[in-house]
Amino acid sequence: MSNLAELSVTALKGVGDKFAEVLAKLHIATVQDLLFHLPLRYQDRTRITPIAALLPGVDAVIEGEVRAADVVFGRRRSLIVRLQDGSGTISLRYFHFTAAQKSRFARGARLRCYGEARRGAAGLELYHPETELVDTEAPATPETLTPVYPLTEGVSQARLRGLVQQALALLNEGGVSELLPTELLPQSMRYPLGAALQYLHSPPAGADLAQLAAGVHPAQQRLALEELLAHHLSLLELRKSSSAIAAPPLPANEALERDFLARLPFALTGAQQRVCAEIAADLARGRPMMRLLQGDVGAGKTLVAALAALKGIGAGAQVAVMAPTEILAEQHRRNFSAWLEPLGISVALLTGSLKAAERRSQLAAVASGAAQLVVGTHALFQPEVVFHNLALVIIDEQHRFGVRQRLELREKGAASGATGRLQPHQLIMTATPIPRTLAMSAFADLDCSVIDELPPGRQPINTVAISNDRRDQVMERVQGAVADGRQAYWVCTLIEESESLQAQAAETTASELAKVLQGVRIALVHGRLKPDEKERVMNAFKAGDVDLLVATTVIEVGVDVPNASLMIIENPERLGLAQLHQLRGRVGRGSIASHCVLLYGTPLSQNGRARLQALRQHSDGFAIAEEDLRLRGPGEILGTRQTGEIQHRIADLQRDAQLLPQVQRIAASPSLGADLRHQLIARWLQNKPRFAEA
Ligand code: ADP
Ligand code: MG
Repeated sequence: MSNLAELSVTALKGVGDKFAEVLAKLHIATVQDLLFHLPLRYQDRTRITPIAALLPGVDAVIEGEVRAADVVFGRRRSLIVRLQDGSGTISLRYFHFTAAQKSRFARGARLRCYGEARRGAAGLELYHPETELVDTEAPATPETLTPVYPLTEGVSQARLRGLVQQALALLNEGGVSELLPTELLPQSMRYPLGAALQYLHSPPAGADLAQLAAGVHPAQQRLALEELLAHHLSLLELRKSSSAIAAPPLPANEALERDFLARLPFALTGAQQRVCAEIAADLARGRPMMRLLQGDVGAGKTLVAALAALKGIGAGAQVAVMAPTEILAEQHRRNFSAWLEPLGISVALLTGSLKAAERRSQLAAVASGAAQLVVGTHALFQPEVVFHNLALVIIDEQHRFGVRQRLELREKGAASGATGRLQPHQLIMTATPIPRTLAMSAFADLDCSVIDELPPGRQPINTVAISNDRRDQVMERVQGAVADGRQAYWVCTLIEESESLQAQAAETTASELAKVLQGVRIALVHGRLKPDEKERVMNAFKAGDVDLLVATTVIEVGVDVPNASLMIIENPERLGLAQLHQLRGRVGRGSIASHCVLLYGTPLSQNGRARLQALRQHSDGFAIAEEDLRLRGPGEILGTRQTGEIQHRIADLQRDAQLLPQVQRIAASPSLGADLRHQLIARWLQNKPRFAEA
């Protein structure tokens, strides 16, 4: 009996070194990898459907005799084959075909076809079905459902299916180890691993296709549990590996902190104090802190970041703060300068669009250590940035910062001048609360702190949803607010990611508003403005010289103008709940009652309606995140679409969320030994480079 985890795919018939390279692109190196390369979906070719019984939109196999094959010249030239069986006649339509293909469809030939029937001009048609000629002796229909696998260039479905069949034969001889001790599995999950794989690669005729498509067959759930467990274990390993790395201990510099706090016009909230203490304890140890700081918009994370930064600076080291946008980087630079420069601390700014001379001088200040705090965008981590004794990296508003980036940052920080092999501490801040179960899985390598209290005196934001049909009334409302001496945002959203299209939409809206709103001072801010221009506009708005700021979602995070008490969000149905909640958090920062108008386009889908309703009902970011998870799924919340993070083969974080507590329970069990843990990780995450470094 061979161990398939160690048996190379080249041991299979028809796989040479060259084809093995193609398979490697699918992360298939061993026979076990092949067995864990699971089908995306299934086709039912086990039954032949009478032509008269075909349904539109359903895949089916039909068999019949060719009555005619003609090239027709309609809007597009196409080949139409008329196929007849005892029950009826149907057309097969080909837009691309060769002379050889046409001659195959000779009158009287018997064909078996597989495809999806669709409504055409003259009743149901099959477009480009797969066909095979049936001789006197018809081949038997398969006894199992036909799997459809993820492919890459150079591998066909047929070839992959053939290989999997060979692998299954080996599996039957017992070559895949059952790594999970049975007693750790819940009763309903005690499906033998080999049987689950066998079932999923070739479900028997009559298997429940709907159940398989939904991913809830017990065989799928058994594998999903194991996959989620493997991911979870790999993050735990990552955490363990960080704790074996040395970081500079940063004890509190009490005089400096006292001085800082004494200059603040307010006292820390209880939650801020608690979180600061958690961070201080991490920083005092000689191990890199890996901490996620969650706090709703306006909870006061920046101040906590400043106190953490003081620990690094007070110990004579350098601290970097990374923001997701230039607007936010500049706002941080302003805040940190105002707070820290009076204490004799020098702050540098590095963004992508600094002028060459400015950039050179900032780079020099960073490299020499003259700048003790460095604020910037992603530009901070370009190779030419050389830090000087970097001890702490603070990442703002970046829950979309995946494991891979966390690792990269660790490496970069170490490479760019932390003393010796010491690695910098990391603090990742986010205003997008992550539901607990998700956080425990997706961020199992991080410690978590939560600021669960807003600074005193905040007014709740009154949120209403108004249809775009009543746009005039909304504009009147803006006029009224401005007449009362207040300021407002008008946020334009677009589905397109393109900044220039977004900017264009905002420009159009700004000029439309300017025509209607007499006497209102309107300014425009979007991602296409030059940084100094953006800063000028934001400063004017902060200073109260602008009444209405028309903006794209660039103002989403962090911007802080307490006198702004009204926000209009156009087409809110296009954005996620978490993003809307963040946007809305730009108002309600002062002591005046604030309002948010969701100006939606009609008609609104049912899901769209439910989401706006959730936003009106809840003011707590955590409740909204739970709703977002329910309505949209974890990919959106974690931003995995962007980072390519967490690509599961079979598990689906939302569908299988109920498995997560089991996963955590099993991972914590002492009867799962180190060896089993490593084998599980290797089985599910093999060849995934992001974990190789861990
Ligand atoms: P966020 O958590 O969204 O980043 P900020 O750090 O921008 O929030 O803080 C929002 C506002 O609250 C800022 O104007 C900040 O100065 C103010 N603030 C922070 N902490 C306190 C506090 N303890 N008491 C009063 N105001 C505070
Ligand atoms: Mg912030």
